[in-house]
Amino acid sequence: MQRKVPFITFCVKPNKKAWINLAGCNFDCKGCFALAKDDVGKPFTVEALLDFFTKSCMQVYGEMVYDVVITGGEPTLNPAYLLDLIKGLRGLSIKNIAVSTNGYLLDEKLVKSLKTLQVSLVKLDIKMYDEKLHYWYTGKSNKSVLKAAKLLHDYDVNFYVRTILMPGIVDVDEVDKIARFLSSISPEIPYRIYEFDPKHARQPITRKPSLKEMFEAFKAAKKYLKHVESVPAAETYDSSYEYVEVRDDALQDQFNKIDEISRLSIKDWKIRGIPFSKILSLSK
Ligand code: SF4
Repeated sequence: MQRKVPFITFCVKPNKKAWINLAGCNFDCKGCFALAKDDVGKPFTVEALLDFFTKSCMQVYGEMVYDVVITGGEPTLNPAYLLDLIKGLRGLSIKNIAVSTNGYLLDEKLVKSLKTLQVSLVKLDIKMYDEKLHYWYTGKSNKSVLKAAKLLHDYDVNFYVRTILMPGIVDVDEVDKIARFLSSISPEIPYRIYEFDPKHARQPITRKPSLKEMFEAFKAAKKYLKHVESVPAAETYDSSYEYVEVRDDALQDQFNKIDEISRLSIKDWKIRGIPFSKILSLSK
């Protein structure tokens, strides 16, 4: 079994942390911002990916990283692959392994396995509460996603829920419904509200929310949940952050475009690309 990997991102400052991006997704979000949504990148078996990841770490840091997020695309598309990857990363003595997911395939069996493997964090997207709206936006029902939040809580997996505020699509009333639903499971569930950013979306289906709208959404969620965070715009990111990205050579044109957009919108955006071919040549 192989999965494609278009890139692996490494934060080099202020903290060492890596994101392994597995390509492909079972949703078709209209405002998707992820290059890894498509079936792009180099195919790797788990074993080959672990080897490639280790070599990438040595190239970037000169040592292994101890904080890894498995993301995409959608990392749960093949649960066996995901679980083997987590086991393999554990075998490399990686302490913190997080999984970022849209939750659609997060059934009881997978949640139990994630608990058994002591995944440090699951980042669960609940994009919308309204099922029709969710269907319109993603092409899929949200029933299993809502159920996943309950399962993660019941199996005592460390997790938080994320929603992107999208004016005219996901407004304060949707955030209110999601937060109320989560509070019916537990008011302790951490909840993060992000801003939609049309610059990074495949389809600029709406505008960025205003600060006032973000604050209103925060207040709505705070009525039900104890731990709510409103995540600031990318433009306000601390310029001390520095990244290195190991990238599939075949996607270089797409990376150039993404870098250009990021540099225009994020002050002092620091990212350096390393082609896959350079890492692969290390193994010869
Ligand atoms: S779940 Fe994420 S990667 Fe998949 S289509 Fe939606 S935004 Fe894109």
